[in-house]
Amino acid sequence: MHSQQVTAEPPSNDTVGEVPRVLWSPASGADRAPLIFDVIIAGCGPTGAMLAAELRLHNVRVLVLEKETEPKSFVRIVGLHIRSLELMAMRGLLDRIRQHGRQRPAGGFFAAIPKPAPKDLDSAYAYLLGIPQPVIEQLLEEHAIELGAQVRRGCAVAGFEQDDEGVTVELADGEQLRSRYLVGCDGGRSTVRKLLGVGFPGEPSRTETLMGEMEVGVPQEEIAAKVAEIRETHQPFWLRPFDEGVYSVVVPAAGVSDRAEPPTLEDFQQQLRTIAGTDFGVHSPRWLSRFGDTTRLAERYRVGRVLLAGDAAHIHPPIGGQGLNLGVQDAFNLGWKLAAQIRGWAPETLLDTYQAERRPVAEDVLDNTRAQMELLSTEPGPQAVRRLLTELMDFDEVNRHLIEKITAIGIRYDFGEGPDLLGRRLPDIDVKQGNLYGLLHHGRGLLLDRTERLTVGGWSDRVDYLADPTATLDVPCVLLRPDGHVAWIGDDQQDLNDHLSRWFGKPANRP
Ligand SMILES: Cc1cc2nc3c(=O)[nH]c(=O)nc-3n(C[C@H](O)[C@H](O)[C@H](O)COP(=O)(O)OP(=O)(O)OC[C@H]3O[C@@H](n4cnc5c(N)ncnc54)[C@H](O)[C@@H]3O)c2cc1C
Repeated sequence: MHSQQVTAEPPSNDTVGEVPRVLWSPASGADRAPLIFDVIIAGCGPTGAMLAAELRLHNVRVLVLEKETEPKSFVRIVGLHIRSLELMAMRGLLDRIRQHGRQRPAGGFFAAIPKPAPKDLDSAYAYLLGIPQPVIEQLLEEHAIELGAQVRRGCAVAGFEQDDEGVTVELADGEQLRSRYLVGCDGGRSTVRKLLGVGFPGEPSRTETLMGEMEVGVPQEEIAAKVAEIRETHQPFWLRPFDEGVYSVVVPAAGVSDRAEPPTLEDFQQQLRTIAGTDFGVHSPRWLSRFGDTTRLAERYRVGRVLLAGDAAHIHPPIGGQGLNLGVQDAFNLGWKLAAQIRGWAPETLLDTYQAERRPVAEDVLDNTRAQMELLSTEPGPQAVRRLLTELMDFDEVNRHLIEKITAIGIRYDFGEGPDLLGRRLPDIDVKQGNLYGLLHHGRGLLLDRTERLTVGGWSDRVDYLADPTATLDVPCVLLRPDGHVAWIGDDQQDLNDHLSRWFGKPANRP
């Protein structure tokens, strides 16, 4: 099977970015596998699992293909930032996830500058949840399966072809499967992206860092004093007590390698000796990992019936802990739009708003990680900028801006002219039934009407309605998309109907 991009959707429909070279492959029918699935997702990492669950909320037939036979064994601790915690709350997952993590303060993540977050951050979930990545992946996979997604492990996507009806996906063992759409959630080295021929421009790694958890052989006070001394000149360096005698260790690597396999304990000992003059008696590692500062962004997120999400679309250094969060949020943005396309009610350009909204967010994350990496440099210039920024972060607005960036609660999609709230996410406000996010578990739109005069009319199969004059809002009514972003603000029924059409297509009772 060849691997170039083939789209049978008219190129003029594709309103985002440059139109690719289109290889038209008209339906020929007979020799194709039956179209059993609506969507095939390549990769069951956090992005793929979240997307599968979001699609299942709309009864989309989903198959997730994961090349690994077993869930990942490396225990990388990641942080779920505020916006991701809000997404989990919106789908009723937060209590389950919270049991497996540790709440930490939300501040101090921008370039590891230790400033506490402003006390009045506008979220009911204003903290970071530290949690092992395999646990998140397992919980999201379980959630997707509970909702009816099929997950097949040990199946690597090796090729595909698109035509006017769907995508034929070929597995590494030659098996062919068909679906209407394919989404590459297959990580930074994405096979789907490469086969699509989508460019992935950016910068290769300039530095590499070793990261792991292990036990130490010297007292904590001795470590703390030495670490404070080293951090004067080496920023990506720490040994922090993590759990019952286990330390989290971060140390610059000897050089940049392109090795996919984890480093060894000897690599850590060697680098600790080189930088600190002692290896702190490290031993008994729990897990060891390396990361670089490669920074790349896919030129397009969609070519016809094939889309990209998560690390397959963007990679950047882990500083600030944003990658998994960004991928899960991509999935949250894409899920309801792709479901609408499959259910047949999507307005013509809805699916393309995925790239239009999410690619600029990724661009911004790439930029903030570039800036943070500079601020970690031990060169005198960047160190001076770091000192200056540290001073500036004493100004509440500066600190707030950076925290809202890292935690993704500051995102405002461009929905056109309107009040500042338009395009932003609505926090989890109090409503008469309890809390707003408790009403969003089914992934539908919601009209929150304080006037008690409006109606969602023919859109009631896609949009819920809540009349609540007591809701803590300072506008009369808001229309929320299934991802919790504010799609309309006002009190006029005709204007509302126009916006319902814009986001939710034609009403059910109209042809
Ligand atoms: C050291 C380190 C620390 C990090 N810390 C944080 C943090 O604190 N917070 C944060 O938000 N992010 C963090 N990240 C980033 C985070 O780990 C990634 O952004 C996240 O894993 C991306 O999820 P994904 O599902 O898009 O891709 P992945 O997690 O890479 O998942 C892709 C999946 O696709 C599968 N796959 C690949 N090819 C194929 C194929 N051909 N067919 C089928 N399946 C395939 C893979 O086996 C894998 O399961 C960190 C990263 C590193 C390296």
